[in-house]
Amino acid sequence: MIDPRKILDFSLLDAAGLVTFLDLEGDSQKKLLSEAAALRNERLGNKVYFRGLIEFSNICAKDCLYCGIRMSDKETSRYNLSDREIIDAAKFADEQNYSSIVLQSGELASKSFTMRIGKLLEAIHKSTGDKLRVTLSLGEQSEEVYKFWQDCGAHRYLLRIETSNRELYHKIHPVDGKHSFTKRIRALEILKKMGYQTGTGVMIGLPGQSMVDLAQDLLFMKSFGVDMVGMGPYIEHSNTPLYALRNELWPIQKRFSTALNMIALLRLIMPEINIAAATALQAIDKMGREKAIRAGANVIMPNITPGLYRDNYKLYENKPCTDENADDCTNCLQARVGMAGSEIGFGEWGDSMQYRQRMKENFNQAD
Ligand code: SAH
Ligand code: SF4
Repeated sequence: MIDPRKILDFSLLDAAGLVTFLDLEGDSQKKLLSEAAALRNERLGNKVYFRGLIEFSNICAKDCLYCGIRMSDKETSRYNLSDREIIDAAKFADEQNYSSIVLQSGELASKSFTMRIGKLLEAIHKSTGDKLRVTLSLGEQSEEVYKFWQDCGAHRYLLRIETSNRELYHKIHPVDGKHSFTKRIRALEILKKMGYQTGTGVMIGLPGQSMVDLAQDLLFMKSFGVDMVGMGPYIEHSNTPLYALRNELWPIQKRFSTALNMIALLRLIMPEINIAAATALQAIDKMGREKAIRAGANVIMPNITPGLYRDNYKLYENKPCTDENADDCTNCLQARVGMAGSEIGFGEWGDSMQYRQRMKENFNQAD
């Protein structure tokens, strides 16, 4: 097998070169994953950063064909945390020294939603003494809305491209005027230009997705110059339209294993970005997130949504930890990260190194 570090040579950096690594198994896979973790340690150190994830509402105006909380799903009971519950969850993250939180929900585009998020951002910063870095993951919004939220104190934004293959993107989203690949790319460009720490990601093992598509996803992330990535296996949900294509899917273990290879390859081609160990990995393998850390990831998102609501935020089935409370997750994760040979950067923001460089260059150019 080719030495994984050689991937850093640009000669190998094309889809065909990447594909040769994507389905590695056994000893050669082990080598790929451990090289990626070693490169992370060299460039960024062995710290893993926590982002306390608050899934504050499952109300969504979109209908992505793969998602368990899509608008047309009539079986999900809808919830919306109160401002107090959200602020308390943020305070919990601060008390636990996480230093970062993620506010995630279904996608809504309304004046009242926009204003509510703005107020929440201000209240969270006020009640935690401006110590938290806040990531939003609230879907596609207008430039004005992104700007408003940034002014209210949002630092980072997560918007997965889901797949960089335009045709596949349209296969997994309905044709209803609300789902456009071009619009999604444009939203990512706006976020990046605006100075958000910009995160994207893809689902791995979608029906009809090929290894070449996944290699192209990696190249997309590199050429776009993302600061952070969260990507994980696609997990079918029986109440969704895409479930009809379940017979076309790779076995779940193959999706899992390919996801680890994707993380490792991304670390090798983008050594200085933040890469999250997606929760979907843990839905397949109890040690999934720890395995991702061993493959080069450096971010974990402990779920700190109040336990009562977690059961109803089922983007996919078998979602882990939906019956635990937030304290359990902190303790179990700390031990698990230790087992994976890393330590948690408590009390540190853990901003993406790539982002810091990018902002420095912008600043220098402005001089
Ligand atoms: N509404 C926002 C944020 C919540 S959804 C948005 O769509 O951006 C967050 C992510 O969950 C999506 O980007 C998608 O990649 C992932 N997701 C949804 N359904 C999934 C499934 N069945 N399997 C794996 N990941 C899924
Ligand atoms: Fe809504 Fe996000 Fe699910 Fe799409 S993926 S249906 S936007 S919650």
